[in-house]
Amino acid sequence: MKIILASNNPGKIKEFKEILSKFNIEVVSLKELGFNEEIVEDGLTFKENAIIKAKTIYQKYQIPVISDDSGLCVDALNGAPGIYSARYGGVETDLDRTNLVLEHMKDKTDRKAHFHCSIVLYLSESEYHHFEGKVYGTLDYEVKGENGFGYDVIFIPNGFSDTFGIISSEIKNKISHRAQAIKGLVEYFEHDFNN
Ligand code: IMP
Repeated sequence: MKIILASNNPGKIKEFKEILSKFNIEVVSLKELGFNEEIVEDGLTFKENAIIKAKTIYQKYQIPVISDDSGLCVDALNGAPGIYSARYGGVETDLDRTNLVLEHMKDKTDRKAHFHCSIVLYLSESEYHHFEGKVYGTLDYEVKGENGFGYDVIFIPNGFSDTFGIISSEIKNKISHRAQAIKGLVEYFEHDFNN
């Protein structure tokens, strides 16, 4: 069976291909399909945006689709950057966005934050499944480390004293929001999916 992965992120595509090959599922990327239209993600939640992405692509190709949407939610900033994580403040790079969060947090003593990931498996017009994962932690006062991407360099997961920028990717990939959502997806394929 073929499934489209609604992502252009090579890291994510590799990860999903490896995981789903065990279930006899061939993952096809948007690039492989030649899809390069922009999808307007105007949902109000991660789940809504993941559904919008998956549904748009399903309607075009009529093949099951997996999409995901994720971001950082900071308590003292009322959940920002949240669904706007990838374009927070309209600044250009991951590091600019990270520094902007630090700037907005400079007088805040409540440093609690979490990463959220929503994965949607869109099987048909009448059937989709949503899997989510969250990892809770606190924000550091400065950028630390070089691993990962995005806001990893300021996020310290609970139970650790270093940021995801310092913690190894092996550990991050066991505890992260994305790892947890993927676990839900894999459990679905193991127990509930009839290929
Ligand atoms: P995407 O929707 O998963 O591509 O991610 C949206 C944005 O959320 C990214 O551009 C990052 O800024 C942020 N983000 C999502 N997941 C992570 C993560 O695991 N580490 C750091 N930043 C993340």
